[in-house]
Amino acid sequence: MRIDLHTHSDRSDGTMSPAELVEHAAEVGIDVLAITDHDCFAGWEEAARAATRVGVMLVRGIEISCRFAGESTHLLGYLPDATYPPLLEELDRVLDGRNSRLPALLARLRELGIDIDIHDVRRVAGEAAAMGRPHVADALVDLGVVVNRDEAFARFLGPGRPAYVDRYAADLTEMIGLIAAAGGVSVVAHPWAGRHDSSALDAEAFAGLRAAGLAGLEVDHQDHSAATRAALRRLADDLDLVATGSSDFHGSGKIDFDLGCNTTDVAQFERLMALAEVAAITAGRSTPALVTP
Ligand code: AMP
Ligand code: ZN
Ligand code: FE
Ligand code: FE
Repeated sequence: MRIDLHTHSDRSDGTMSPAELVEHAAEVGIDVLAITDHDCFAGWEEAARAATRVGVMLVRGIEISCRFAGESTHLLGYLPDATYPPLLEELDRVLDGRNSRLPALLARLRELGIDIDIHDVRRVAGEAAAMGRPHVADALVDLGVVVNRDEAFARFLGPGRPAYVDRYAADLTEMIGLIAAAGGVSVVAHPWAGRHDSSALDAEAFAGLRAAGLAGLEVDHQDHSAATRAALRRLADDLDLVATGSSDFHGSGKIDFDLGCNTTDVAQFERLMALAEVAAITAGRSTPALVTP
């Protein structure tokens, strides 16, 4: 049983449509797939139809851009009611924040002598719910300025680089509460990606987040070293949090993040789904069903 709980379609910054993503999962032998586009539910319907067709179990999810103690932190939410107004309002704020910083970002690139405007980004963003840095990166590839997204982030778009512009992100603790109120469960995505020793997300922080309703930690992720994974697994164990593993697949948008490159243990997945059932009952909201083949 191969379970991959973190993937992106072109409704955010992946390069496959939701249907292509699910079909690809079936081809490479994934049994359970979560679609977790950034800050939107836009891929759910199409993915669910494809999952029924090709016989993949689909977990409807989302990855939300949050902030904790000033640090950018991503939160995976599984099976929330996607019609819950307070959640939708906060997601709109995040999507608006991404779109509204774009003019300033593009102005910085133009100051660097790059002839780029919003139409170049719109063209590559296609079906995406908002235009983010990965779309700017794709536009820079199309203009022949860089060869891929990685180079665009390394030279221009990453933190500390000349075209970096900050944007709104949701408060992590509040978002865990919103996901719970929507009848879903949350897992901190790649908590220590590239910052094991300095992160504000330490044992004490995780204990506090658990008290706020956090269900799990994404332990196995391409941006975690073997030592980081071992330390996070121990932490999850100590705090009785679910430990997940996932690819964070973005199609051709991220190299070496292939579907199924990390997977979630069956027992951990079953625990997560049991917690989701409790969350739905507690919240009294009708959360989306798992799509079962
Ligand atoms: P934004 O939310 O618009 O600020 O863009 C952030 C997103 O860009 C992240 O969620 C990642 O999916 C993506 N990203 C961050 N760093 C890189 C990178 N080096 N290469 C490709 N994509 C990246
Ligand atoms: Zn992404
Ligand atoms: Fe992420
Ligand atoms: Fe992701």
